[in-house]
Amino acid sequence: NKVITLKERPSGKPDEKNFELKKEEKPALEDGEILLESKYISVDPYLRGRMRDEDSYITPFKLNEPLSSMVVAKIVESKNDEFQEGDHVSGMLQWKQFQKHTGEDLNKITNKKVPLSAYLGILGLTGLTAYLALKNIGKLKEGETLLVSGAAGAVGSVVGQIGKIKGCRVVGIAGTDEKIDHIKSDFGFDAGINYKTTEDMAKAIKEHCPDGVDVYFDNVGGEILDAAMQNINDFARIINCGAISIYNKEEVPKGMRLEGIMVKKRALMQGFIVRDHADEFQEAIKQLGSWLADDKLKFDETRREGFENVPKAFIEIFEGKNTGKMLVEV
Ligand code: NDP
Repeated sequence: NKVITLKERPSGKPDEKNFELKKEEKPALEDGEILLESKYISVDPYLRGRMRDEDSYITPFKLNEPLSSMVVAKIVESKNDEFQEGDHVSGMLQWKQFQKHTGEDLNKITNKKVPLSAYLGILGLTGLTAYLALKNIGKLKEGETLLVSGAAGAVGSVVGQIGKIKGCRVVGIAGTDEKIDHIKSDFGFDAGINYKTTEDMAKAIKEHCPDGVDVYFDNVGGEILDAAMQNINDFARIINCGAISIYNKEEVPKGMRLEGIMVKKRALMQGFIVRDHADEFQEAIKQLGSWLADDKLKFDETRREGFENVPKAFIEIFEGKNTGKMLVEV
């Protein structure tokens, strides 16, 4: 049974040498337990934060112990009447090929119409994040302008599409021309900005958002946030969903002072953590599922194959190698 542990805490950008592939005995079941075989493993930017030894909203990973993330797994043996062999579940599970579990807090996958991997993306935490942050903080109104960074990624690509469903002008920011083409032609974004080839981001945002920005969905933080802030409208809503541009920095970089703009524009800026909204998950999954069924929402994913490639896939997120959800097919 293969297992991936955290060998050392990364300094700066994570490296494959920070992780270790180990072998252990396949676990034997006791009454009430199930044996799970990992099928798809999600790799996510926030895991970088858990690799630091510091207080956060979620506990840090321990050295020399398996890491964990959202996983879709198959039940290969069951000594628990509530779970049948052959069924699939998703949940926060360890980076192990096989693991035993009591079944508590696992989500049973019953809808066979969507691919299993969707439970790590569009119907998993990233889809929920897009939907619930827009619902609770963005409060989009028809005709408004929505700007989103990380626009070709798992969360960002769903955010933009929901913006179109709500009748907004949607502008996305991403790191390659191919990604910009992709969000426009496949996801219906009105415009896109490649932040890696654009000298003056504030000016580019102004050009593409001629009526200003009503909602900025921030997945990256840093200088792109500063540029967005220079274009917000009165009563704009800024959703601080993530800050991938600073996750690998050893010191938090200094930036623009925002209080002047915040006052002048009477703007709202609010941090968002999807786990605070567990009571809204069922409603959100229902809505996302119905948009999927009606073809109003599409999703894509970047798959890497093989259990041992989980750390590599995780690192590739910071290199922008993914479009849509990055995951590993075990
Ligand atoms: P993505 O699929 O968007 O992958 C991350 C993308 O970020 C990369 O593909 C890359 O695309 C871009 N990126 C990498 N480095 C930088 C950088 N230095 N500056 C700008 N962009 C960069 O990941 P997710 O959709 O899973 O997550 C997106 C954000 O949402 C993250 O910040 C994550 O932490 C956050 N998040 C927050 C949640 C919450 O509850 N608050 C829940 C889930 C996610 P490119 O080619 O465009 O550079």
